[in-house]
Amino acid sequence: MSTPSHRVPVAEQVEELLAAEGPLTVLAAGDPVLRRPAEPFDGQLEPALLARFVEALRRTMHAAPGVGLAAPQVGIGLRIAVLEDPAPVPEEVRRARGRVPLPFRVLVNPSYEPVGGERAAFFEGCLSVPGWQAVVARPARVRLTGADEHGRAVDEVVSGWPARIVQHETDHLDGVLYLDRAEPRSLSSHQAVAERWNQPTPEEAARALGFPLPR
Ligand code: ZN
Repeated sequence: MSTPSHRVPVAEQVEELLAAEGPLTVLAAGDPVLRRPAEPFDGQLEPALLARFVEALRRTMHAAPGVGLAAPQVGIGLRIAVLEDPAPVPEEVRRARGRVPLPFRVLVNPSYEPVGGERAAFFEGCLSVPGWQAVVARPARVRLTGADEHGRAVDEVVSGWPARIVQHETDHLDGVLYLDRAEPRSLSSHQAVAERWNQPTPEEAARALGFPLPR
C-alpha cells in the first residue's frame, strides 16, 4: 500500500530520492508541489543528508543545464535552492543584462525585497517549463536575506542577472512560477528566442509581439 507523500517525513523523501544514481528528475509545471509554499528549513535534514541533497541539486542543475534549482522542483517542499551561473555570454549581452558570473551558492530560507524602483525586463526560462521562455520585468536590485547551507546569515544587495536568478529561485519556494509574472504576449519557444529574439534586450520582441516594457 502506498502512503501519500505528504505524510512521509521529508528526510525519508530525500533519502529515497538520493537512493537513485544520477541527476534527479526535474518536475514540470502542473505538479502541485510547484504551487505549494515550501516549508522553512529548520533542521529537518541532518547536516550530512543536507550536504548530499545540496550536492544532488547541484549535479541536477549542471546536467539540465540551468543556473538555479529549487528543492520543490525535485519534489521536496523545503526552502532550499542552489544557484550558479558561469555566464558564458558575449560582452555586449553581459553589459545589457548585467549577466556577470555567479559562483555556486546555496540559499536556505531566502526572501527578497526590491531596492529602489528600477525594473529590468528580459527573456527568462525555467527547467520546470521546458521549451519556453517569456519576458519578465523584475526589480533590478533586491535585498536578499536568509542563510547559507551552514546556517550563516545572509543579508546583501544583489543586482544584475544574479538578482533575477535570486528572485526566480526564491519565487519557486513561494509556489510562484516565472510565468505568473511574465508578459503573456512575449511567450516564445526556445527556437524562436534563438532565431529571432537573441538581441541583448527584448525591445525588438516587444515591438513585434506587442507587449509592454518598463520605461
Ligand atoms: Zn524555475
